[in-house]
Amino acid sequence: MNEREIKSFFSGELLQWYKKAKRDLPWRRSRDPYHIWVSEIMLQQTRVDTVIPYFNRFMAKFPTITALAEAPEEEVIKAWEGLGYYSRARNLQAAACEIAENHGGRLPDDKSVVAGLKGVGPYTSGAILSIAFGRPEPAVDGNVMRVLSRYFCIDEDIAKPATRVGMEGLARELIPEGEASDFNQALMELGALICTPKSPSCLLCPVMAHCQGRLAGRETELPVKSKAKPPRPEHRLAALLQDAEGRVLVRQRPESGLLARMWELPHVTAPERGVWESAAEGSALLAASLDAEGLAGVSAESLRHVADAEHVFTHLHWHLRVLGADGGQGRVAEAAVAAEAAGATAVAGVEAAFAAAAAEGQVGYSIDAAGASLPPGYRWIDAADFERLAWPNVFSKLLRAHFSGTLYEIAPKR
Ligand code: SF4
Repeated sequence: MNEREIKSFFSGELLQWYKKAKRDLPWRRSRDPYHIWVSEIMLQQTRVDTVIPYFNRFMAKFPTITALAEAPEEEVIKAWEGLGYYSRARNLQAAACEIAENHGGRLPDDKSVVAGLKGVGPYTSGAILSIAFGRPEPAVDGNVMRVLSRYFCIDEDIAKPATRVGMEGLARELIPEGEASDFNQALMELGALICTPKSPSCLLCPVMAHCQGRLAGRETELPVKSKAKPPRPEHRLAALLQDAEGRVLVRQRPESGLLARMWELPHVTAPERGVWESAAEGSALLAASLDAEGLAGVSAESLRHVADAEHVFTHLHWHLRVLGADGGQGRVAEAAVAAEAAGATAVAGVEAAFAAAAAEGQVGYSIDAAGASLPPGYRWIDAADFERLAWPNVFSKLLRAHFSGTLYEIAPKR
């Protein structure tokens, strides 16, 4: 077979396979460009199984571009909570506003408009134009580059922009006339179901007969990808402070930057891991930072280690240590662990700890229950407030556990 035939075999077999094997996904039930657009944004860095319920809820809540444009930003972020990479949601809404304003609320079949939308890069633009409008535009992401590297036995580093540009040219050539929508989805589907990153199922692959990587025995070596830098570790100390009613003190993140305008426990970054690990130094640092924020009166001695959690972003790895006020969750966590060690249930330990703390008048830590003198951006929340506000995953997990009384389950073992 010559190169032209190898390409034509690939396109033809892949398309036929896709027509039989494609998954029934909610965004495939329509050609509505808005549905395709939202699904493609959600699918960036996120698995299909995770996206499906988010997509369905998002469409029920914001059924049109205009509805999305007119929604309060907090509601959009709340609907995105748990998907991560929140700038995607903000960009989506900003782009929806632009379409509502300049294009009557309908995404136009116009490459320059689609490619110019906030948050839409070359892959997403190609996906929208081909899937929704049938335009012969390539949609090349990491999955597609993996498939093409293997099938054509390409050794170039897919982390390099020049390789992506070359792959886009190749993918464009491969699109059969009039079949851009199905063909691009077929490529993505092959990468998701058969030509998977670690162990490609070559024996089930519709293009195995002429896969150059497979024929060379190199299917698991390809694609070539230079390693990205590992995420930088950051050690953070967070305060879990409660008022006498059990409400928790939280603050809103700044207007821009990572996780903009989401809510979190007040916290500080330790200058080095040793400080974070040291009970005395960690609590002193956190108490000093609260004081500097205008939350005077939290003594280092009153803070103790109640839980650990972590979150990995693309460039950052947060190690979060939560310090609670003595007599509150600190005692509860400790009692739960001690009760389990003594053969009782953790719940029994928790109940006993709450009872003892309450008897001593130490059910929580109070700065200012009325909230009158809290610094700007701070507030007290109860369980209902927690459900309404939008949180980064790591704080959502911690606070959900706190309000359901199971924080001791993620407490450190002493
Ligand atoms: S034969 Fe194997 S390596 Fe080649 S495209 Fe198919 S699954 Fe991927």
